Amino acid sequence: MVSTAGTPKNFTYLVIGGGIAGVSVAAELAAAGESTVLLEQESQLAYHTTGRSAAIFLETYGSRIFRLLTHYSRDFYLNSLRDDPPLIAPRGAIFVARDSGLAKLRKLHDEVAQLTDSVRWLSAEDLRREFPALREDWVAGALEPDAKDIDVHALHQSYLRRFRRGGGHVVCNSPVLAFRREADIWVVQTPQCVYRAKTLVNCAGAWADEIACLAGLTPLGITPLKRSAILARVDLEMAAWPYIGDVEESFYFKPSKQGLLISPCDETPEPASDVTADEMDVAIAADRFETALRGKVISVQARWAGLRSFAPDRNPVIGFDPRCDGFFWLAGQGGYGIQTAPAMAELAAALLRQARLPAFMDRNEIGLEEISPTRLCGANSAKELCHVS
Ligand SMILES: Cc1cc2nc3c(=O)[nH]c(=O)nc-3n(C[C@H](O)[C@H](O)[C@H](O)COP(=O)(O)OP(=O)(O)OC[C@H]3O[C@@H](n4cnc5c(N)ncnc54)[C@H](O)[C@@H]3O)c2cc1C
Repeated sequence: MVSTAGTPKNFTYLVIGGGIAGVSVAAELAAAGESTVLLEQESQLAYHTTGRSAAIFLETYGSRIFRLLTHYSRDFYLNSLRDDPPLIAPRGAIFVARDSGLAKLRKLHDEVAQLTDSVRWLSAEDLRREFPALREDWVAGALEPDAKDIDVHALHQSYLRRFRRGGGHVVCNSPVLAFRREADIWVVQTPQCVYRAKTLVNCAGAWADEIACLAGLTPLGITPLKRSAILARVDLEMAAWPYIGDVEESFYFKPSKQGLLISPCDETPEPASDVTADEMDVAIAADRFETALRGKVISVQARWAGLRSFAPDRNPVIGFDPRCDGFFWLAGQGGYGIQTAPAMAELAAALLRQARLPAFMDRNEIGLEEISPTRLCGANSAKELCHVS
């Protein structure tokens, strides 16, 4: 039984979920002096998707909006180089294409070149010279030399420290089971006690739509898709290699101190749960490596899977729900929730507090309507009857 005896029960903001989305927005709110509590259903924070990522910062990855949010997060990460430990380390990344992926690679290269001028086109000859182990059918590449490894644990901890310094409260083992509106206050039920808050912040990752259902709202269609990864020993010396990904998303590889991370880029719809990689996922990952490179997987040291959750248009969901007062979404981060966390948290906190938006929004590259949950409510964006007592 968890003791919540010392924790106050009345807050301005109640954040559901202790992954990177929850702790980062909670930290921004607490740093602005807002009374905030964060509830996590597991006994530890970052147990689900946040603890299972490939930990890469890639400006060439995801939809236009995710790429912009990644770009806007860049200064945060670069400034962290002064921290101990720094949150990022050099890695570099290259997307490669066969003939079938050439047009997609060219489009990606040209779009990203407008964001960051360090992106370089690699011809088939360049690829052979720089990565001789790649098989001949890879005919071009887009190199992003400034891609970084992210220390996800250090990032999560640094937000958590900031949250606590700002007076924030974290309660683990506290699944939100039910809530209802009493006047303009949310009354939130956990197994141990009842909390009251003016605003709910839904950072529940794969469970985001289930949280909406608890409020009596029609879900937005945020779908958890399983992605698997293995950590392997291979017969190539790859420690100094960049991240290498197929632009058509059949694999990516990333070297680390512990071995080579290989993902088969699977996207299997799964209900929100504690997913694992099965034998077939492991076999496919090893096969994709051996098909792309002249190399062999010698042994598999670890395997895991996590849920990447996507809105139907594969853009993030950030904003107040138009159907219900005081219900805010920070969800649908897909495969980009770590690298974009700094910009998303800053933006979400400003929207929550109805404060001035971050300076990057002055560039008018992202419209709030493109990320708001309203776009996904369709004809149902009128007020719905939330659980009102
Ligand atoms: C294999 C893999 C590789 C990836 N690689 C990268 C990468 O290189 N770079 C990148 O930026 N992103 C990557 N991602 C994506 C990234 O990990 C996610 O976008 C991010 O972690 C999502 O964070 P989150 O906080 O929204 O979700 P989560 O970390 O899942 O947090 C949600 C939390 O909500 C809690 N919760 C749910 N329901 C309740 C409830 N009722 N009450 C209380 N708590 C509740 C859950 O227990 C969970 O802890 C990868 C993902 C996977 C699976």
